Amino acid sequence: MASKRDYYEILGVSKSVSADEIKKAYRKVAMQHHPDRNPGDHTAEEKFKEAAEAYEVLSDPDKRAQYDRFGHSAFASGRGGGFSGHGMNMEDIFSQFGDIFGDDVFGSFFGGGRSNRSSRSRGTRGSNLRVKIKVNYEEIARGTTKTIKVKKYIACNTCGGSGAKDKNSMQTCNTCGGSGQVRRVQNTFLGQMQTVTTCPNCNGEGSVITNKCNTCRGEGRVYGEETVTLDIPAGVQEGMQLSMSGKGNMGERGGAPGDLIILIEEEQNTQLHREGLNVAFDLYISFPDAVFGTNAEVPTIDGRAKIKIPPGTQSGKIFRLKGKGFPSINSHEKGDQLIHVNVWTPQNVSVDEKQTLEQMQQSENFKPKPDKNDKTFWEKIRETFS
Ligand SMILES: [Zn+2]
Ligand SMILES: [Zn+2]
Repeated sequence: MASKRDYYEILGVSKSVSADEIKKAYRKVAMQHHPDRNPGDHTAEEKFKEAAEAYEVLSDPDKRAQYDRFGHSAFASGRGGGFSGHGMNMEDIFSQFGDIFGDDVFGSFFGGGRSNRSSRSRGTRGSNLRVKIKVNYEEIARGTTKTIKVKKYIACNTCGGSGAKDKNSMQTCNTCGGSGQVRRVQNTFLGQMQTVTTCPNCNGEGSVITNKCNTCRGEGRVYGEETVTLDIPAGVQEGMQLSMSGKGNMGERGGAPGDLIILIEEEQNTQLHREGLNVAFDLYISFPDAVFGTNAEVPTIDGRAKIKIPPGTQSGKIFRLKGKGFPSINSHEKGDQLIHVNVWTPQNVSVDEKQTLEQMQQSENFKPKPDKNDKTFWEKIRETFS
């Protein structure tokens, strides 16, 4: 993961460029490293794939925002391997091409390269699905597995996703002869050019359904429910997105399914407060405990911890439990827990207590004498959150 190149760098653009410029840059890089132009060149092919992956993320406003915020870890692979990240195969890349270059340009420029490859794409790809998942601090600390029911399009059982009533209800398209493409010869200023476009009769699928499946009415999919197990890695944060490839809506007539995008929401904790990777906790101790010292038990994001409060602890003192904060999703770094000590001032006192306090009031030991070791509030803030 660490060796992954920056997506902007791959496309040779700066972070502030417009969507249009990203498209242009991708077009340039993709043409340069296109396999048809660099036959047998493995490095070119890797670069071609790398550029496609970069474009896939940067061309999607949501994904781009995620990437800008979290870098590659926005699309981190889960520990259990549940999330595929963005490994794209050649078929994905070529299907992405149609949108960018247009079928015409693609066909003529690359000599019909598409038809040599995956040509007919079955059906249409299903859309991505988004779900919100709430995780509490403990789950973020350890990572967790969640099983959820997702309402979505699933493959039709009756026809196996084809949309046809039976085997005989599917016919090779007459218009394109099954290739899914039609060729046209055009006269241009460069001379005659052959262009290839998607067959309008079958929408590029190469076959047409003559008798539709009754269950799905020819769509090849029905609205249903699927139980999905999500492996949430430790260290996720509010607003982070994880994507599980192929777990979104099923495509039409055997088309590939979309992805399931999981949006992380942090459940608030009544006692602990998150500050980046650090966790803050307010501890209240009595005045005698502050004078004599005590042992206190405090909640952490992962169970409880014991801490020693030394004699003479001032109100406002901050203790640090090293490594008891949140883990980072993309490194071994861990935050700390900061314990902010508050000395409790009684609101009501009995007559006896009042007398004792009045005696204390006269004692020299009870007059505040802060020395230079007692840092000011602002110094403490600066030191703990730096
Ligand atoms: Zn069906
Ligand atoms: Zn056709």
